[in-house]
Amino acid sequence: MTSGMTQRDYYEILGVSRGATDAEIKGAYRKLAMQFHPDRNPDDPAAEEKFKEAAEAYDVLSDSNKRSRYDRFGHSGVQGSSDFHTYSNINDVFSAFSDIFGSSVFGDFFGQQQSRSRKQHGDQGSDLRLNLQVTLEEIASGVEKTVRIKHYKTCQTCSGSGAEGESAYDTCSECNGTGERRHVTRSVFGQFINVSPCSTCDGTGEILRHRCSACGGEGRTEGESTVKVTIPAGVRTGNYLTVTGKGHAGRRGGPSGDAIVVLEEIEHEYFHRVDDDIFYDLVVDFPTASLGGEVEVPTLQGVSVVKIEPGTQPMTLLSLKGKGIPHLQSRGRGDQVVRFNIYVPKSLSSKEKSILKDLVGNEHFKPPADKRSKHFFEKLKAVFT
Ligand SMILES: [Zn+2]
Ligand SMILES: [Zn+2]
Repeated sequence: MTSGMTQRDYYEILGVSRGATDAEIKGAYRKLAMQFHPDRNPDDPAAEEKFKEAAEAYDVLSDSNKRSRYDRFGHSGVQGSSDFHTYSNINDVFSAFSDIFGSSVFGDFFGQQQSRSRKQHGDQGSDLRLNLQVTLEEIASGVEKTVRIKHYKTCQTCSGSGAEGESAYDTCSECNGTGERRHVTRSVFGQFINVSPCSTCDGTGEILRHRCSACGGEGRTEGESTVKVTIPAGVRTGNYLTVTGKGHAGRRGGPSGDAIVVLEEIEHEYFHRVDDDIFYDLVVDFPTASLGGEVEVPTLQGVSVVKIEPGTQPMTLLSLKGKGIPHLQSRGRGDQVVRFNIYVPKSLSSKEKSILKDLVGNEHFKPPADKRSKHFFEKLKAVFT
């Protein structure tokens, strides 16, 4: 609060009467401080302003000398006096009222601030994502696969410390080991201190005396690993497996991330998967479809011999129970659904031709009368004549 600006009455700010006791003033301030605490109102300048305003009011009203001066002369009675100061920085407020903020209510806030100010040396390594293709046959049975992972690995030379030999750390001279840099800006509202991580030491507060030549101080180098992954039966595209600790190694000995292996089903040449069922088109020769018989059907578990009824029509569906994909989340398997189609020969010998010619017009070879199509043909004739 700069002099010259219109200021609110201190009693009004704290919401207490002019005759309020010290305990009432303290209680009112504590309530406001908790409400407008910056940790509860991040990036809210209005709340921060209210927080400081309340601190200033409390600073005056909690001191009997200042309070009596303020009661007699108002704001001018306390401003400019040697023992009065405005709280331009939130941390000033904390230190001035440690008796209040040091209480259990604000203990956790202090804890947060301390842990925020300085980083540890090792950063957590990031996770790594890679795709792995699997065939429908592998999905049907489950499979173990060896996967090659290109990732950052802990540097062998320095064991991840990033340091050459036994070299240790020097305190960063840029930030004096605090790991943070403070920028002071002044405005009509007072001075503000912005805290950011020190760029020289990357917020750690320390500088390596000698960097490891193999990794340049990173504590990790690019490398490759092979890992075995066990893929359960029944997986589908988009399912993933997490290989713990096989992602990128962290910087300077930080823990490794995970490798996320995302599965991708390779489209099958002739099987089509729908959920856990397998669809398969079986083309049957006309005499077998007509007479009935046995046909061989490929499945994901080998060849099945299937009996077909005499007079099997094109597009007839037949279910082979349990010949589909095992369910991933429950017991049992899907089915294989066979769809029949009839093969029409493309070229014929003269003998075959004469046999078929004999059949043309035979009673049983005539397609059943289709009332709808008859009507349709008549309509067409009417249109085109
Ligand atoms: Zn190294
Ligand atoms: Zn530094």
